[in-house]
Amino acid sequence: MKIRVDKLIKTYGEHAALEGLTMEIEDAKCLAFIGPSGGGKSTALRLLAGLEHPSSGSIEINDEALPVDEAELRNYRKSIGIVFQGYNLFPHLNALDNITLPLEKAHGLSRKKADARARELLGRFRLDQHAYKRPAELSGGQNQRIAIARSLAHNPELIFFDEPTSALDPEMTAEVLDVIEELIQEGKDCVVVTHQMGFAKRVSDHICFLANGSVLEHGRSLELFENPREKET
Ligand code: ADP
Ligand code: MG
Repeated sequence: MKIRVDKLIKTYGEHAALEGLTMEIEDAKCLAFIGPSGGGKSTALRLLAGLEHPSSGSIEINDEALPVDEAELRNYRKSIGIVFQGYNLFPHLNALDNITLPLEKAHGLSRKKADARARELLGRFRLDQHAYKRPAELSGGQNQRIAIARSLAHNPELIFFDEPTSALDPEMTAEVLDVIEELIQEGKDCVVVTHQMGFAKRVSDHICFLANGSVLEHGRSLELFENPREKET
């Protein structure tokens, strides 16, 4: 994927979460935003995913400017997948229904088609036997795999992950990382936010280091990890 961001600013009241983010990435499979807490990583991800409007500046993904018009932006959001740290599953729905609901309501699939797709994904992530359990009856790693299955259900080419493993213990972290790596190998593009360097190094080919709402350094992961230009990186 290609990403071009130009002088992106996002303010909340007086506070600037992003203070003019500019970067150009030509051929990434996986871009990771890393950096200290409060640096603007989640804000950058929400803007790239079209969940919020920038205060100013522009974003182009694969040579297409992100729409400003709300209806077009909604279509863009439907075309991507998003996974958050806290899974964002519906607590009152079982695993199966958590996946079928958006397929039916947002993507217009019939009950039968949505059900077949959800079962296919639950099978893929070894969750078949948990189809009728609610989030409270499942582990963090299982819930995160359900959230990933849900984000993939409509077959997006581009998937966004915001700290997908930071609520998980090490064993489950490994499990979720394997799933993300597998998706990249299958040809999905992804943008991940993480403060875990090991994770960034393992899955990403491009890194953007954000601190205090600005890019401190960005480039190919290998170069950035082996030969950082900035002291903080
Ligand atoms: P990170 O993900 O790198 O920890 P964030 O993008 O969440 O950083 O936040 C960057 C800055 O913007 C922080 O100072 C945070 O408090 C502020 N911020 C983020 N979202 C909001 C919001 N919805 N309202 C007000 N301030 C926000
Ligand atoms: Mg964050």
